[in-house]
Amino acid sequence: MIQDRFAGKVMVVTGGTSGIGKAVCLRAGAEGAKVVIAGRSQARGEAIEKEIREAGGEAVFIQCDVTKKEDILNLYAKAVERYGRLDIAINNAGIVGDSKKIEDLTDDDWFSVVNANLNAMFYCIREEIKYMLKNENGGAIVNTASVAGVRATPAGPAYVASKHGVVGLTKSTAMDYAKNNIICNAVCPAGTDTPLTEAAKEKIYAKIAELKAQGIDPSEFMKNSMIAGKTQTLQGRNATSEEQAATILYFASDEARHITGSIVVADGGFTVY
Ligand code: NAD
Repeated sequence: MIQDRFAGKVMVVTGGTSGIGKAVCLRAGAEGAKVVIAGRSQARGEAIEKEIREAGGEAVFIQCDVTKKEDILNLYAKAVERYGRLDIAINNAGIVGDSKKIEDLTDDDWFSVVNANLNAMFYCIREEIKYMLKNENGGAIVNTASVAGVRATPAGPAYVASKHGVVGLTKSTAMDYAKNNIICNAVCPAGTDTPLTEAAKEKIYAKIAELKAQGIDPSEFMKNSMIAGKTQTLQGRNATSEEQAATILYFASDEARHITGSIVVADGGFTVY
């Protein structure tokens, strides 16, 4: 914990009500940021707002479904109305979708993942840039991508394509706004213990049970599943949300002012081999 690292800074965090985003909100709040917790669940968002306030920090929850453009416009307008400016944006909301190869992927499977992971990020960054351009000292944008943004993972065409898109959007934003002192970087986690990982594992275990009940050997499905239920990091363990938050918040901080367009794997060695 670095006291006052974000003192006076206004930070918006999408997907701020669970997992990595929640850890970002709590730590940024403890380090002096005015935290705008964006998410769909009012109950979870208000509980995090309360936790930050009770610890002496400043936070507000704003409801936002990132697949709705009007919610995104409202999020940044309300955040700036409340705190006067926008300094830091953590674009973190995301979904995995079902683990399927492309031949089985429906239109809905594709669009739900691409809308939540990539199209939402386009709308968010466009708003963030508009507000950050008003600052004399620019701003910092950190996008949560994935190791699936730098390599393929099995049976995840929509997820892999959307996260590669996030990587491209990060580099493009970094290039166009470097002169305006707005930095934009992406953090790429591998397995991290969060509700998203749990939900994905449960779906895979359910499918394995279904195949076994039908007398079908599930080993082929398991080989091709996006998350095989065990970690593939060299460290032999998943990351915690707090570890991912630490990396994200470094790139949000003034210590990273010279770093832009970087795509940083935070993956326990997953992509080494
Ligand atoms: P999580 O499910 O705990 O958090 C994701 C958050 O995004 C949730 O709060 C969820 O409600 C929110 N979200 C999803 N769709 C939304 C929508 N339409 N509108 C608003 N909010 C929405 O999981 P997490 O692991 O903390 O995920 C955070 C990010 O990290 C995601 O972008 C994910 O792709 C990425 N990631 C996670 C892992 C992992 O192993 N957990 C690995 C690589 C990348």
